[in-house]
Amino acid sequence: MTSQTTTVSAYAAPSAKAPLERTTIPRRPVGEFDVLIDIKFAGICHSDIHQARDGWGEGIFPMVPGHEIAGIVTEVGPGVTRFKAGDRVGVGCLVDSCRECENCRAGQEQHCTGGSVGTYNAIGKDGEPTYGGYSQSVVVDENFTVRIPDGLSLDEAAPLLCAGITTYSPLKHWGAGPGKKVAVIGLGGLGHMGVKIAHALGAEVTVLSQSLRKKDDGLKLGADHYYATSDPKTFEELAGSFDVILSTVSAPLDFGAYLGLLRTGGALVNVGAPEEPIALNLFSLIGGNKTLAGSMIGGIAETQEMLDFCAEHGLGAEIELIEASRINEAYERVLASDVRYRFVIDAATI
Ligand SMILES: [Zn+2]
Ligand SMILES: [Zn+2]
Repeated sequence: MTSQTTTVSAYAAPSAKAPLERTTIPRRPVGEFDVLIDIKFAGICHSDIHQARDGWGEGIFPMVPGHEIAGIVTEVGPGVTRFKAGDRVGVGCLVDSCRECENCRAGQEQHCTGGSVGTYNAIGKDGEPTYGGYSQSVVVDENFTVRIPDGLSLDEAAPLLCAGITTYSPLKHWGAGPGKKVAVIGLGGLGHMGVKIAHALGAEVTVLSQSLRKKDDGLKLGADHYYATSDPKTFEELAGSFDVILSTVSAPLDFGAYLGLLRTGGALVNVGAPEEPIALNLFSLIGGNKTLAGSMIGGIAETQEMLDFCAEHGLGAEIELIEASRINEAYERVLASDVRYRFVIDAATI
């Protein structure tokens, strides 16, 4: 058993404005309930870029981003019951929580009120900064580790740990399924998983994208319809159509116009958010008993449920596999929306 802190290679942003570079970081000893994971792949999430560039403030540097982790267990602590060496596993946005609050007990660890611990850019219960998936290995409590079913390849599974659960959870919560019409705003890293999952849940799926540039992709991913939101006719034609609209974009939207696309009782759920507060005429909610909602990732049990669902339906992410030396270039391309649909780092190159 690894009773000592180990030193492993990683890619880190040394400070807020600096590009990521190769470095080494400590990993804690494998504790009683810990698993040591040999990281094979790490997805690049848009929020990695926000945090590495300190767009949200109070970033902890040096910062090793990465909360879409897929790998193989190489060692387990003596108290671990759910995993053994050789298991295929994943780690998402959280590596710990208080485990006692109402939300933790309800399996909503992402809303822990007692202090959850992010996979990176956070302080762990040992008082040390957490470092994410752009590294060779990670030590994580078994309760925050999920199993990646054999039906999913590890590289295509990695992005499911954030993009997959972020879209699966609200689609389930708001009842996407047979007989329901679901629209997904934006066909990026989140949106493409939203389309795949909504389709697999049995809903009739429409992509609402700025242009028709990715229409062929959208239809292949499982969308039944694809509309350009730059065309005002879209909003006339689709008025009152949808049970659920999932917004995956962070651009400021005309929320009143989108609420007009909902059926009576429908919900517009946001997993992306514009930086500025929005102005909204509340009559666009009152007329038609509509809901404007938000959703943040999902709990650990639901993340496992999502992975099992994706394996059953053969839903991996569409990825572009890169060497670690291309992370900074990949960041620029993500910011330019030039990725179809998720960059994944081959951790063997870290
Ligand atoms: Zn993410
Ligand atoms: Zn809690």
